[in-house]
Amino acid sequence: MKEFAYRRATQVRDALTLVAEHDGARYLGGGTNLVDLMKDGVETPGRLVDVRFLPLDGVREAADGGLVIGATTTNSDAAAHPEVRRRYPALSEAMLAGASGQLRNMATVGGNLLQRTRCAYFADPSQACNKRVPGSGCAAVAGEHHNHAIFDWSQHCAATHPSDMAVALAAFDAVVHYETLDGAGEIPLSEFYLPVGDTPERETALPPGALITAVSLPGSAISPRSRYRKVRERASYAFATVSIAADLDVRTGAARIALGGVASRPWRARRAEAVLLDGPVTAGRFRTAADAELSAAEPLPGNGYKVTLARNLIVAVLTELADRARS
Ligand code: SF4
Repeated sequence: MKEFAYRRATQVRDALTLVAEHDGARYLGGGTNLVDLMKDGVETPGRLVDVRFLPLDGVREAADGGLVIGATTTNSDAAAHPEVRRRYPALSEAMLAGASGQLRNMATVGGNLLQRTRCAYFADPSQACNKRVPGSGCAAVAGEHHNHAIFDWSQHCAATHPSDMAVALAAFDAVVHYETLDGAGEIPLSEFYLPVGDTPERETALPPGALITAVSLPGSAISPRSRYRKVRERASYAFATVSIAADLDVRTGAARIALGGVASRPWRARRAEAVLLDGPVTAGRFRTAADAELSAAEPLPGNGYKVTLARNLIVAVLTELADRARS
Protein backbone atom coordinates (compact mmCIF):
# COMPACT_ATOMS: atom_id res chain seq x y z
CA MET A 1 0.00 0.00 0.00
CA LYS A 2 1.25 3.50 -0.81
CA GLU A 3 2.21 5.53 2.23
CA PHE A 4 -0.41 8.07 3.34
CA ALA A 5 -0.97 10.63 6.09
CA TYR A 6 -3.86 10.22 8.51
CA ARG A 7 -5.71 13.19 9.99
CA ARG A 8 -8.75 13.18 12.22
CA ALA A 9 -11.31 16.02 12.02
CA THR A 10 -13.86 16.88 14.70
CA GLN A 11 -15.48 19.83 12.93
CA VAL A 12 -16.89 19.88 9.40
CA ARG A 13 -14.92 22.96 8.38
CA ASP A 14 -11.68 21.40 9.56
CA ALA A 15 -12.41 18.30 7.47
CA LEU A 16 -13.13 20.40 4.40
CA THR A 17 -9.91 22.38 4.88
CA LEU A 18 -7.79 19.29 5.47
CA VAL A 19 -9.00 17.83 2.17
CA ALA A 20 -8.79 21.10 0.22
CA GLU A 21 -5.18 21.80 1.22
CA HIS A 22 -3.82 18.42 0.08
CA ASP A 23 -4.04 17.25 -3.52
CA GLY A 24 -5.47 13.76 -3.64
CA ALA A 25 -6.78 13.76 -0.07
CA ARG A 26 -9.83 11.62 0.66
CA TYR A 27 -12.43 11.48 3.38
CA LEU A 28 -12.36 8.29 5.42
CA GLY A 29 -15.59 6.92 6.87
CA GLY A 30 -15.75 3.28 7.89
CA GLY A 31 -13.11 2.49 5.25
CA THR A 32 -14.86 -0.72 4.28
CA ASN A 33 -14.41 -0.06 0.56
CA LEU A 34 -11.71 2.62 0.35
CA VAL A 35 -9.12 0.75 2.42
CA ASP A 36 -9.61 -2.42 0.35
CA LEU A 37 -9.03 -0.41 -2.82
CA MET A 38 -5.91 1.15 -1.30
CA LYS A 39 -4.55 -2.31 -0.53
CA ASP A 40 -5.12 -3.26 -4.18
CA GLY A 41 -3.42 -0.09 -5.44
CA VAL A 42 -6.64 1.14 -7.07
CA GLU A 43 -6.94 4.14 -4.74
CA THR A 44 -3.75 5.97 -3.76
CA PRO A 45 -4.68 8.97 -1.60
CA GLY A 46 -1.78 10.85 -0.01
CA ARG A 47 -3.93 11.89 2.95
CA LEU A 48 -6.96 10.38 4.64
CA VAL A 49 -9.19 12.69 6.65
CA ASP A 50 -11.16 10.66 9.15
CA VAL A 51 -14.71 12.05 9.39
CA ARG A 52 -16.17 9.54 11.84
CA PHE A 53 -15.76 11.94 14.75
CA LEU A 54 -17.67 14.79 13.15
CA PRO A 55 -21.04 15.69 14.73
CA LEU A 56 -22.94 14.08 11.83
CA ASP A 57 -24.18 10.97 13.56
CA GLY A 58 -27.79 9.96 14.20
CA VAL A 59 -31.33 10.09 12.84
CA ARG A 60 -33.55 13.10 13.45
CA GLU A 61 -36.98 14.38 12.47
CA ALA A 62 -37.30 16.55 9.35
CA ALA A 63 -39.64 19.54 9.25
CA ASP A 64 -41.83 17.88 6.59
CA GLY A 65 -42.44 14.76 8.67
CA GLY A 66 -39.64 12.77 7.10
CA LEU A 67 -36.25 11.85 8.52
CA VAL A 68 -32.71 13.11 8.24
CA ILE A 69 -29.94 10.51 8.58
CA GLY A 70 -26.52 11.89 9.42
CA ALA A 71 -23.70 10.92 7.10
CA THR A 72 -21.57 9.23 9.75
CA THR A 73 -24.43 7.11 11.08
CA THR A 74 -23.42 3.50 10.63
CA ASN A 75 -25.49 1.28 8.39
CA SER A 76 -26.29 -0.90 11.42
CA ASP A 77 -27.59 2.02 13.48
CA ALA A 78 -29.61 3.50 10.62
CA ALA A 79 -31.17 0.13 9.77
CA ALA A 80 -32.10 -0.51 13.41
CA HIS A 81 -33.58 2.94 14.07
CA PRO A 82 -37.26 2.47 15.02
CA GLU A 83 -38.51 5.33 12.82
CA VAL A 84 -36.52 4.18 9.80
CA ARG A 85 -38.01 0.72 10.27
CA ARG A 86 -41.54 2.08 10.75
CA ARG A 87 -41.65 4.75 8.02
CA TYR A 88 -39.24 3.39 5.43
CA PRO A 89 -38.90 -0.36 6.05
CA ALA A 90 -37.48 -0.97 2.58
CA LEU A 91 -34.53 1.21 3.53
CA SER A 92 -33.88 -0.75 6.69
CA GLU A 93 -34.18 -4.02 4.76
CA ALA A 94 -31.82 -2.74 2.07
CA MET A 95 -29.15 -1.78 4.55
CA LEU A 96 -29.46 -5.13 6.33
CA ALA A 97 -29.12 -6.90 2.97
CA GLY A 98 -25.72 -5.29 2.41
CA ALA A 99 -22.36 -6.83 3.32
CA SER A 100 -22.00 -8.52 6.72
CA GLY A 101 -22.84 -7.50 10.28
CA GLN A 102 -19.23 -6.55 10.96
CA LEU A 103 -19.04 -4.36 7.86
CA ARG A 104 -22.41 -2.71 8.55
CA ASN A 105 -21.12 -1.80 12.01
CA MET A 106 -18.28 0.14 10.36
CA ALA A 107 -19.80 1.42 7.11
CA THR A 108 -21.33 4.89 7.18
CA VAL A 109 -24.33 6.22 5.27
CA GLY A 110 -22.19 8.79 3.46
CA GLY A 111 -19.56 6.23 2.56
CA ASN A 112 -22.17 3.76 1.37
CA LEU A 113 -23.33 6.27 -1.24
CA LEU A 114 -19.78 6.73 -2.51
CA GLN A 115 -18.68 3.10 -2.65
CA ARG A 116 -17.15 2.05 -5.94
CA THR A 117 -18.24 -0.61 -8.37
CA ARG A 118 -17.29 -4.22 -7.71
CA CYS A 119 -16.44 -4.83 -11.37
CA ALA A 120 -13.48 -7.23 -11.08
CA TYR A 121 -11.52 -5.41 -13.78
CA PHE A 122 -11.83 -2.15 -11.85
CA ALA A 123 -10.21 -3.79 -8.84
CA ASP A 124 -7.32 -5.21 -10.88
CA PRO A 125 -4.75 -2.56 -11.94
CA SER A 126 -3.36 -4.94 -14.59
CA GLN A 127 -6.63 -4.71 -16.59
CA ALA A 128 -7.98 -2.03 -18.91
CA CYS A 129 -10.59 0.03 -17.10
CA ASN A 130 -11.84 3.46 -18.12
CA LYS A 131 -13.25 4.08 -14.68
CA ARG A 132 -9.87 3.54 -13.00
CA VAL A 133 -7.67 4.92 -15.80
CA PRO A 134 -9.69 7.12 -18.21
CA GLY A 135 -9.00 6.24 -21.83
CA SER A 136 -7.49 2.82 -21.08
CA GLY A 137 -10.47 0.85 -22.40
CA CYS A 138 -13.03 -1.43 -20.83
CA ALA A 139 -12.14 -5.08 -20.38
CA ALA A 140 -15.66 -5.98 -19.26
CA VAL A 141 -17.75 -5.12 -22.32
CA ALA A 142 -15.93 -7.73 -24.44
CA GLY A 143 -14.99 -9.87 -21.45
CA GLU A 144 -16.68 -11.27 -18.35
CA HIS A 145 -19.78 -9.20 -17.72
CA HIS A 146 -22.50 -11.52 -16.46
CA ASN A 147 -23.09 -9.24 -13.49
CA HIS A 148 -22.93 -5.94 -15.37
CA ALA A 149 -25.53 -3.37 -16.41
CA ILE A 150 -28.55 -3.87 -18.65
CA PHE A 151 -29.66 -0.23 -18.62
CA ASP A 152 -27.85 2.95 -19.60
CA TRP A 153 -24.37 1.49 -20.04
CA SER A 154 -21.95 2.60 -22.74
CA GLN A 155 -19.04 1.05 -24.61
CA HIS A 156 -16.86 2.95 -22.15
CA CYS A 157 -18.23 1.22 -19.04
CA ALA A 158 -20.98 -1.21 -18.10
CA ALA A 159 -20.36 -1.43 -14.36
CA THR A 160 -23.19 -1.48 -11.84
CA HIS A 161 -23.45 0.48 -8.61
CA PRO A 162 -23.12 -1.89 -5.66
CA SER A 163 -25.15 -0.10 -2.96
CA ASP A 164 -28.35 -1.68 -1.65
CA MET A 165 -29.07 1.36 0.48
CA ALA A 166 -28.99 3.74 -2.49
CA VAL A 167 -31.66 1.70 -4.28
CA ALA A 168 -34.11 2.24 -1.44
CA LEU A 169 -33.12 5.90 -1.21
CA ALA A 170 -33.90 6.26 -4.91
CA ALA A 171 -37.37 4.78 -4.43
CA PHE A 172 -38.04 7.25 -1.60
CA ASP A 173 -36.82 10.35 -3.49
CA ALA A 174 -34.11 10.98 -0.93
CA VAL A 175 -31.93 14.08 -1.04
CA VAL A 176 -28.17 14.15 -0.41
CA HIS A 177 -26.89 17.10 1.65
CA TYR A 178 -23.31 18.26 1.56
CA GLU A 179 -20.96 21.02 2.69
CA THR A 180 -18.15 22.74 0.86
CA LEU A 181 -15.87 25.58 1.92
CA ASP A 182 -18.22 27.84 -0.07
CA GLY A 183 -21.35 26.70 1.74
CA ALA A 184 -23.96 23.98 1.90
CA GLY A 185 -25.83 22.32 -0.94
CA GLU A 186 -28.15 19.44 -1.73
CA ILE A 187 -28.73 17.08 -4.65
CA PRO A 188 -31.77 14.85 -5.20
CA LEU A 189 -30.63 11.24 -5.32
CA SER A 190 -32.12 11.02 -8.82
CA GLU A 191 -29.43 13.48 -9.95
CA PHE A 192 -26.65 12.43 -7.58
CA TYR A 193 -25.16 9.68 -9.78
CA LEU A 194 -24.05 10.80 -13.24
CA PRO A 195 -24.88 8.87 -16.42
CA VAL A 196 -21.91 6.81 -17.64
CA GLY A 197 -21.52 8.33 -21.10
CA ASP A 198 -17.86 8.57 -22.06
CA THR A 199 -16.70 9.65 -18.61
CA PRO A 200 -17.26 6.68 -16.28
CA GLU A 201 -14.61 8.03 -13.94
CA ARG A 202 -17.01 10.85 -13.01
CA GLU A 203 -19.53 9.14 -10.78
CA THR A 204 -21.40 11.79 -8.80
CA ALA A 205 -22.56 15.38 -9.07
CA LEU A 206 -20.83 16.36 -5.82
CA PRO A 207 -18.65 19.46 -6.19
CA PRO A 208 -14.89 18.90 -5.73
CA GLY A 209 -13.97 18.52 -2.07
CA ALA A 210 -17.59 18.33 -0.93
CA LEU A 211 -18.39 16.34 2.20
CA ILE A 212 -21.71 14.52 2.44
CA THR A 213 -23.32 15.56 5.73
CA ALA A 214 -26.73 13.85 5.62
CA VAL A 215 -29.42 12.15 3.60
CA SER A 216 -33.03 13.26 4.00
CA LEU A 217 -36.14 11.22 3.32
CA PRO A 218 -39.25 13.27 2.52
CA GLY A 219 -42.38 12.92 4.61
CA SER A 220 -44.35 12.49 1.39
CA ALA A 221 -42.49 9.22 0.76
CA ILE A 222 -43.35 7.50 4.04
CA SER A 223 -44.16 3.93 3.01
CA PRO A 224 -44.79 1.63 5.99
CA ARG A 225 -45.44 -1.39 3.74
CA SER A 226 -42.48 -0.93 1.41
CA ARG A 227 -40.20 -3.87 0.69
CA TYR A 228 -36.62 -4.51 -0.45
CA ARG A 229 -35.83 -7.81 -2.14
CA LYS A 230 -32.41 -8.85 -3.35
CA VAL A 231 -31.38 -11.69 -5.64
CA ARG A 232 -27.72 -12.63 -5.27
CA GLU A 233 -25.39 -15.48 -6.04
CA ARG A 234 -25.23 -16.69 -2.44
CA ALA A 235 -27.48 -16.16 0.55
CA SER A 236 -25.42 -13.50 2.31
CA TYR A 237 -22.40 -11.24 1.92
CA ALA A 238 -22.86 -10.80 -1.83
CA PHE A 239 -23.75 -7.87 -4.03
CA ALA A 240 -27.08 -7.77 -5.83
CA THR A 241 -27.51 -9.55 -9.10
CA VAL A 242 -30.81 -7.69 -9.27
CA SER A 243 -32.62 -6.03 -6.39
CA ILE A 244 -35.77 -3.98 -5.94
CA ALA A 245 -37.15 -1.45 -3.49
CA ALA A 246 -40.87 -0.94 -3.94
CA ASP A 247 -44.05 0.43 -2.48
CA LEU A 248 -47.57 0.26 -3.90
CA ASP A 249 -50.76 2.08 -3.02
CA VAL A 250 -53.43 -0.44 -4.01
CA ARG A 251 -56.18 2.22 -4.01
CA THR A 252 -54.53 4.44 -6.64
CA GLY A 253 -51.87 2.29 -8.27
CA ALA A 254 -49.25 4.86 -7.26
CA ALA A 255 -45.97 2.99 -6.95
CA ARG A 256 -42.36 3.64 -6.06
CA ILE A 257 -40.03 1.18 -7.75
CA ALA A 258 -36.24 1.26 -7.93
CA LEU A 259 -33.96 -1.51 -9.17
CA GLY A 260 -30.39 -2.32 -8.17
CA GLY A 261 -27.70 -4.31 -9.97
CA VAL A 262 -28.92 -3.21 -13.39
CA ALA A 263 -27.20 0.14 -14.05
CA SER A 264 -24.36 2.37 -12.95
CA ARG A 265 -26.82 3.98 -10.52
CA PRO A 266 -30.02 3.00 -8.75
CA TRP A 267 -32.56 2.59 -11.53
CA ARG A 268 -35.91 4.21 -10.88
CA ALA A 269 -38.50 2.23 -12.82
CA ARG A 270 -40.52 5.19 -14.07
CA ARG A 271 -42.02 3.29 -17.01
CA ALA A 272 -43.44 0.66 -14.71
CA GLU A 273 -44.73 3.28 -12.29
CA ALA A 274 -46.51 5.10 -15.14
CA VAL A 275 -48.27 1.91 -16.24
CA LEU A 276 -49.51 1.20 -12.72
CA LEU A 277 -50.80 4.69 -11.94
CA ASP A 278 -54.60 5.04 -11.92
CA GLY A 279 -55.14 1.51 -13.17
CA PRO A 280 -56.56 -1.64 -11.57
CA VAL A 281 -54.09 -3.43 -9.32
CA THR A 282 -54.04 -6.83 -11.01
CA ALA A 283 -51.47 -9.49 -11.82
CA GLY A 284 -51.84 -8.69 -15.51
CA ARG A 285 -51.08 -5.05 -14.90
CA PHE A 286 -48.00 -5.95 -12.85
CA ARG A 287 -46.71 -7.97 -15.82
CA THR A 288 -47.47 -5.11 -18.22
CA ALA A 289 -45.64 -2.68 -15.95
CA ALA A 290 -42.61 -4.95 -15.70
CA ASP A 291 -42.57 -5.48 -19.47
CA ALA A 292 -42.74 -1.72 -20.03
CA GLU A 293 -39.70 -1.17 -17.83
CA LEU A 294 -37.65 -3.99 -19.28
CA SER A 295 -38.47 -2.95 -22.85
CA ALA A 296 -35.75 -0.32 -22.39
CA ALA A 297 -33.12 -2.86 -21.30
CA GLU A 298 -30.08 -3.42 -23.51
CA PRO A 299 -28.35 -6.48 -22.11
CA LEU A 300 -24.82 -7.42 -23.04
CA PRO A 301 -24.29 -10.83 -24.69
CA GLY A 302 -23.63 -12.46 -21.31
CA ASN A 303 -26.22 -10.92 -19.01
CA GLY A 304 -29.59 -11.24 -20.73
CA TYR A 305 -30.77 -13.37 -17.80
CA LYS A 306 -30.98 -10.17 -15.77
CA VAL A 307 -33.85 -8.95 -17.94
CA THR A 308 -35.94 -11.99 -17.01
CA LEU A 309 -34.82 -11.75 -13.40
CA ALA A 310 -35.74 -8.08 -13.09
CA ARG A 311 -39.09 -8.63 -14.78
CA ASN A 312 -39.95 -11.51 -12.42
CA LEU A 313 -38.76 -9.57 -9.39
CA ILE A 314 -40.97 -6.58 -10.19
CA VAL A 315 -44.03 -8.81 -10.62
CA ALA A 316 -43.27 -10.84 -7.47
CA VAL A 317 -42.77 -7.85 -5.21
CA LEU A 318 -45.81 -5.95 -6.52
CA THR A 319 -47.89 -9.08 -5.98
CA GLU A 320 -46.56 -9.42 -2.45
CA LEU A 321 -47.29 -5.74 -1.69
CA ALA A 322 -50.83 -6.04 -3.05
CA ASP A 323 -51.48 -9.23 -1.06
CA ARG A 324 -50.20 -7.68 2.13
CA ALA A 325 -52.34 -4.57 1.66
CA ARG A 326 -55.47 -6.66 1.19
CA SER A 327 -54.84 -9.07 4.08
FE1 SF4 B 1 -13.86 -0.55 -15.78
FE2 SF4 B 1 -16.43 -0.03 -16.07
FE3 SF4 B 1 -15.25 -1.55 -17.85
FE4 SF4 B 1 -15.60 -2.46 -15.36
S1 SF4 B 1 -17.20 -2.01 -16.81
S2 SF4 B 1 -13.73 -2.62 -16.64
S3 SF4 B 1 -15.42 -0.55 -14.15
S4 SF4 B 1 -14.76 0.62 -17.43
